[in-house]
Amino acid sequence: MRLSSFFTPSSSTNTRAAAILLGFSLWASSVRAQDRTTEAGEAAITNPNQECIPYTYPPIANSASSYPANWVQPAVIVPGDTEALDKWNSIKSSIPTNISVKGTVKGDFSNFTPTYNASDTDCWWTYAKCVTPKLPGLSPDIINIPEPMSLGIGYDDGPNCSHNVFYDFLSDNKQKATMYFIGSNVQNWPLEGQRALADGHELCVHTWSHPYTTAVQSESVFAELWYTMKIIKQVIGVTPTCFRPPYGDIDDRVRAVAKALGLRVILWTTDSFDWEVGATPGVTPAMVDANYQNLINGAQNGSYNNFGTIMLTHEINNFTMTEAIKWYPALKAAFKALVPVGVGWNISQPYAETNYTLPTYSQYVNGQITVTGSASPSSSGDAKSSSKSGAVGMPTAGSGLIVSIVTVAALLGGVARVLA
Ligand SMILES: [Zn+2]
Repeated sequence: MRLSSFFTPSSSTNTRAAAILLGFSLWASSVRAQDRTTEAGEAAITNPNQECIPYTYPPIANSASSYPANWVQPAVIVPGDTEALDKWNSIKSSIPTNISVKGTVKGDFSNFTPTYNASDTDCWWTYAKCVTPKLPGLSPDIINIPEPMSLGIGYDDGPNCSHNVFYDFLSDNKQKATMYFIGSNVQNWPLEGQRALADGHELCVHTWSHPYTTAVQSESVFAELWYTMKIIKQVIGVTPTCFRPPYGDIDDRVRAVAKALGLRVILWTTDSFDWEVGATPGVTPAMVDANYQNLINGAQNGSYNNFGTIMLTHEINNFTMTEAIKWYPALKAAFKALVPVGVGWNISQPYAETNYTLPTYSQYVNGQITVTGSASPSSSGDAKSSSKSGAVGMPTAGSGLIVSIVTVAALLGGVARVLA
């Protein structure tokens, strides 16, 4: 029904009504566009274009120089960062120096693999899917859920700026998951990062710049993990104790760095290959659908009657999140429980901070899914009480103008809808 049919035929009255509607639309649009300073305000935006307009979050904007350059591979220890350097110096004697750095950060191992010992001395996952370290003292990687018929669910590569509809879906379904965050993304989208914890999800480290980690020198592996932990602590208020290497690319050298930082390694046994659609020629949505269906078939055929599994999925783009939503009901029906990995392993204290608790597996499957605890993001705007300059930070200049332009565009769109 046309809204104008509510009003009298008088053209002057119509004009006045339009003016009122115009004013309301202006007000509503400005409220939406301006409320980008809090987690709740940002979470209320469901237009992906609006969500993905950069904004300024002062604590992060003010501390950019305390972090490595955004999305530059690989991360390095920030010059003058004595806290990071002291930590690295305190752990480096525990990192093996007889395990080769391999290939390139983009994953080209063609020059290295022919020289590699075929017995896989380094427990290199990319080479032989090795998950039981050969270096003494390292724990096996977590690749499944010990509870039968249980699926560990989680999403890599966030926080994605357009994830609100997806996170709304998870919340509406009272579903918690494990989120593997990239430090550079947390720096760019801090309020989206905060939402993950506010929604009760479990947070793990997924490096600062998403390199193949076996191609990164040990000191830079440290920087990739350390600064991601630091920014999650600064922005979100907790310090993760879990790490998923990008592409699963890990060996005992990288595992040793993770262990020294208190990070357990989480991989997977089932890969959706969702991120490859649009990135790898020949990988189609139908192939991803088939991967989801195979997982469900496995559950129905008894493959997980003795232990559960973990599936690799992403919040990297609209397709991967839409797939996750599309397949959720079928996964929920096929498995006894869909759980965050920490819940599946009864890791009740998921963070270095002791005031935060995940439910046990038993509690979770009986409906007690709520996490307890309180986060304490830094409000000082300074990651570690030092001030430097010169590093790349969040885009800030011009953001206000962009928001204004979008506000006008949204306003015009709103008016067009109302008067159409
Ligand atoms: Zn990733």
